[in-house]
Amino acid sequence: MDVVRSIQALNEQVKAYKQQGKAIGFVPTMGFLHDGHQRLMKKAREQNDIVIVSIFVNPLQFGPNEDYDRYPRDEERDKKVAESENVNLLFLPTVEDMYPNDSSINLQVVSRNEVLCGKRRPGHFDGVVTVLTKLFHLTQPTRCYFGLKDAQQVAVVDSLIHDFNFPIEIVPVSTVREADGLAKSSRNVYLSEQERAEAPSLYQSLEAGRKLVIDGERNPVTIVKGVERFIQSHTHGKIDYVELLSYPDLKPVDYIDGQVILAIAVFFEHARLIDNVIFQREGSKTDVTLGG
Ligand code: AMP
Repeated sequence: MDVVRSIQALNEQVKAYKQQGKAIGFVPTMGFLHDGHQRLMKKAREQNDIVIVSIFVNPLQFGPNEDYDRYPRDEERDKKVAESENVNLLFLPTVEDMYPNDSSINLQVVSRNEVLCGKRRPGHFDGVVTVLTKLFHLTQPTRCYFGLKDAQQVAVVDSLIHDFNFPIEIVPVSTVREADGLAKSSRNVYLSEQERAEAPSLYQSLEAGRKLVIDGERNPVTIVKGVERFIQSHTHGKIDYVELLSYPDLKPVDYIDGQVILAIAVFFEHARLIDNVIFQREGSKTDVTLGG
């Protein structure tokens, strides 16, 4: 595995891959790698000649009171994990290299952003699309891999690729969970013992909501209320949001009549956890469809 830190060295490698006609699979991450990231790498390995993984804790996507400074980092361990997944190139840029000068251009997400995390984390997805635009130009992937754990991110990146005509296929990957249902996340290390014990209730609340749909409920308000009650009665967490929207357009719906997302964000003392389920009108989980 090549470990590359400079943009110049990356450019040279990518040029060589392209000259050899290689298909490149790209997995952007913020590191502290876990099984969720590994699922993305495995998928990229299956579908491409070359796998590039980036690790970059992107300051632009963190708000002033968020966890940029304390975001968990472990470069040595991450290198071993990437190596074990047969990654060809690990890109570890510095903040100074990615954002060298005061920049003259801001990217702004104007759709699929006014709900869920986009609403609660102003500027977050602007930072995400800015770094990804740079990383897509640098890595020139054939396919890129994103986890549905961050389903709004998948929807926004789907728009980015479509709107800016990136010749890249986006591959959404289903959420990897702990045995008790908690979605794997680098931020799970922030949880206290008691919070960790309560955290599986988040996924259970989503599945309880989906069960209402399977049993015939089609009114989003009833489902959202059911999920809120479940979280309140099973955890000490503070609900940031519970929303049910069309997916991937992320529009409010009065009636469940197509692919929808039921998504939650809950504050624990030192961690804000998110999770979601995406399902069809009768509650079944099938392959998630995107489409620009
Ligand atoms: P992050 O390092 O948190 O920015 O995540 C990098 C990529 O891994 C994103 O596409 C995430 O959606 C994805 N990811 C994170 N956690 C999981 C998970 N539990 N299952 C599947 N994908 C995940």
